[in-house]
Amino acid sequence: MDIRVGQGYDVHALGEGLRLVLAGVEVEHTKGCIAHSDGDVAIHAICDALLGALALGDIGKLFPDTDVAYKGIDSKILLRKVCEEVYSRGYAISNIDCTIAMQRPKLRPHIDTMREVLAETMDITADRVSIKATTTERLGFEGREEGVSAYAVVLVCKE
Ligand code: MG
Repeated sequence: MDIRVGQGYDVHALGEGLRLVLAGVEVEHTKGCIAHSDGDVAIHAICDALLGALALGDIGKLFPDTDVAYKGIDSKILLRKVCEEVYSRGYAISNIDCTIAMQRPKLRPHIDTMREVLAETMDITADRVSIKATTTERLGFEGREEGVSAYAVVLVCKE
């Protein structure tokens, strides 16, 4: 059994009046992520974790932010493409654990929907997808509501 671990990290700045999309779910808020894509930090961290597990580079290598094809793109499309890279090499996703750090709004009410949306996107069951949310106790850029960060760890395996 070939078991591999990968980790990913992403940050986006927040801007007034933009859509806030996290882990594939639109969250009602006064601010959203400034980005070339839809700015979904959670999905970007998960993509980097999956790519990292197989040493395939990073999301910026696969989907350059200079490419107009990715302007405003739904990050679920990127995640699906990354999963195809994983599955085509014979690996299965064992589990994903992701933490989103932001001061506001409360993400708790959205967590289960996020897990279901990501599971469907990756073609795995929701019990393999963990999404957690934390504030940073008003410290740092997340605490000042200037940005959002996300961390992800994945385990992939091949028989
Ligand atoms: Mg990003």
